[in-house]
Amino acid sequence: MPQFPDPDQKVTVSMSEDTELELRLKHIMAPPGKKISLLDDYDPGFTAGFKNKKAAGKKLEANIAELAEYQDILYAQDNYALLILFQAMDAAGKDGAIKHVMSGINPQGCQVYSFKTPSAEELDHDYLWRSMKCLPERGRIGIFNRSYYEETLVVRVHPELLDQQKIPLPARENIWKRRYEQINAFEKYLVENGVIVLKFFLNLSRDEQKKRFLERIDRPEKNWKFSTADVKERGFWDDYQKVYEDCFNQTSSEWAPWFIIPADNKWFTRLAVSEIIVHTLKKLNLRYPAVSEQRRQELQEIRKLLEEETLKKPE
Ligand code: ATP
Ligand code: MG
Repeated sequence: MPQFPDPDQKVTVSMSEDTELELRLKHIMAPPGKKISLLDDYDPGFTAGFKNKKAAGKKLEANIAELAEYQDILYAQDNYALLILFQAMDAAGKDGAIKHVMSGINPQGCQVYSFKTPSAEELDHDYLWRSMKCLPERGRIGIFNRSYYEETLVVRVHPELLDQQKIPLPARENIWKRRYEQINAFEKYLVENGVIVLKFFLNLSRDEQKKRFLERIDRPEKNWKFSTADVKERGFWDDYQKVYEDCFNQTSSEWAPWFIIPADNKWFTRLAVSEIIVHTLKKLNLRYPAVSEQRRQELQEIRKLLEEETLKKPE
């Protein structure tokens, strides 16, 4: 089972020719087993010393290229799968992060699922059912845009949603604690079976969310993104912050820690996410499958036949 690095571990150095900056995991990871305060410990405006988009751009480009290489080997090796899930308040930039960070990879090896309000069919099952159906196959990268964590977030902020879930009464006792335990066990099961789980929370400040909503109203080409429901949910900001914080304290585990990604600067969000993904793939020591000596010889023989164009038509 992959062990995650200690929070002081450096994941990034040498950003450009003239600067050497560092991004340490402790700024962006919820250390397993330690209590964190979302408000006091994590700054949504943190940029690890990067001054602007341009400075971060080069490193992001390099990461995107590296990710494409690792994905190719991940696919060829066909042992591990990578599940990357995103959670955030509205307008935090989940869609943009997915679009940019994954821009270099082969679409055949990647699947994105957006989890919305559950359908009647989904509500008729246990809450992990719909996620199980969307897990990435070996060799693939699966992205969950929102996830089963909504079951401890939006459902906790709006407990009336639980009533639709038809859960037997005894199972509702200590339900949040149980769900954390169930999710931890589920993720442990995944990791032990070769599905690496990366969990990103895009940590947006309340002020920046307001700015982005206003922009969606003011700029005609962004109007389609504006949703009145999002503004309604903003009214529950403090409740969400509380349930998110509890969630990180209960479900940041050694096998699947939470990364709390500063989200007030989109360019930094993308850089940090790409950095963690590349770092994780690198640690897997992926290798193209080795070819046996016998197969190598066979390939050489076929090569010769091909060159001489003496391959026979099948009878
Ligand atoms: P965007 O707004 O960028 O399109 P989004 O992820 O907010 O992305 P929406 O269609 O606006 O997508 O919202 C999806 C909604 O579905 C969210 O409000 C989320 O809380 C809700 N949702 C997701 N999973 C569940 C769940 N298990 N139970 C109840 N609501 C859920
Ligand atoms: Mg939304």
